[in-house]
This record gives sequence, structure tokens and C-alpha cells, in this order.
Amino acid sequence: MEKKNIFVRIQEIESQMGHMHSELGELKLVIKELLEDNHRLSLENEQLRKVFKREVQSADSETTFPLQPTLVKNEESGEDVVGEGYDNLARLYHEGFHICNVYYGHLRTEGDCLFCLSFLNK
Ligand SMILES: [Zn+2]
Repeated sequence: MEKKNIFVRIQEIESQMGHMHSELGELKLVIKELLEDNHRLSLENEQLRKVFKREVQSADSETTFPLQPTLVKNEESGEDVVGEGYDNLARLYHEGFHICNVYYGHLRTEGDCLFCLSFLNK
């Protein structure tokens, strides 16, 4: 094998290794994101199970699914107003979930949400 050939091959291998190195870096980022997602979803799932378990235990008198807002016709104006569903949503919010249409149903991980609060204050 000629000397020149060896250098060419070493350069090829070197660039392949560089390529693999950057691919590894990208994969590590993907794994990190997946782990974060998994952690967030686990927390959310755990919290939802607690809420659901309690709702099932106290659902005897309720006929509607408790997590859905119930719209009630206002007799005078004829407009739809939020009825008892409002209380459920407020409770859901205080249990740590978003009730805004931006992040609805997701666990609140960073304290109060302005979207949720403006919804509650309507
Ligand atoms: Zn929100």
C-alpha cells in the first residue's frame, strides 16, 4: 500500500468519525427530550389518576363527566353560560392543571398561568 493511500484513508476515517460524533450528539439531545417528556407525562398522569380516582368516588350524584364544562342556557339573555362546570374547572386549576385553551389538561409546572387566570376571571 502506498503512503499517500494510507493518508487518504485515514482522512476518510477521520471525517467519518466526525460525522458519527455529531450524530451521537444529536441522538443524545433526542434522548434528553424524551426523558424530559417522560418525566412530565409521568407527573401529569399521576396527578390525573388522583383526580380521577376522587371524582369516581364522589360521582354518585353527578350525571355529567366532571371534567367537562357544562354549558347552561341563561333564561333571560339566551346565552350559554358556564354552570357547575366552572367550579370543576376552578378546582382542576387549583389541583395543578391548565384549564386554558392553550394548554388544557396539561400539568402546570411553572406556577400560575395567565391564560387560565384570565379564563377564571371571566
Ligand atoms: Zn393555562
